[in-house]
Amino acid sequence: MTRAALIKLKVTTRSAAQTKRLGAKLAPLLDVGDALLFQAQLGAGKTTFVQGLAAAMGARGAALSPTFIVAETIEARVPIHHLDFYRLTLKEILGLGVEDYLNGAGAVGPGVLLIEWAERFRPLWPKERIDVKIRVGRKKDERTFELTARGERPSALLTDLAKKIR
Ligand code: ADP
Ligand code: MG
Repeated sequence: MTRAALIKLKVTTRSAAQTKRLGAKLAPLLDVGDALLFQAQLGAGKTTFVQGLAAAMGARGAALSPTFIVAETIEARVPIHHLDFYRLTLKEILGLGVEDYLNGAGAVGPGVLLIEWAERFRPLWPKERIDVKIRVGRKKDERTFELTARGERPSALLTDLAKKIR
């Protein structure tokens, strides 16, 4: 993996299938401790991206949680901790004891972190992470993904992803 100058990557997808393929391209690059924090409106495509990513990491079974499940660990090449803070306040999130997921600690153990509605737990954000914002386009099914790397390894990851896309 090369050292990276790139810290931002913008990709427009035009179908749910394309978004899954985008997630699938990132999948082989990820390892335990990597964190993707999603911020986007309901129906933007966060879970769709997660599904494509998880499937490409060898997750068994297609179904991933709808937004009413807060945390699940998906068995795959490496464990995937999929968290979804939809409708939760920071106080509620703190009360749930999700720290083990965030730290890869306790019985939960290390994994790749994929977190929907990340804006809800800002004070607990890992310092090294990829922020994923999704803008819903004016055309039907158009979504623009803006991935921003925070830290050296996340920057290297996005640089490698960019090579696979262009
Ligand atoms: P979120 O998790 O952000 O609430 P979901 O991934 O659950 O959103 O839902 C996204 C919805 O938008 C799905 O019904 C999906 O089929 C649809 N969709 C249409 N175009 C796209 C696209 N380009 N990328 C992702 N989803 C899309
Ligand atoms: Mg979702």
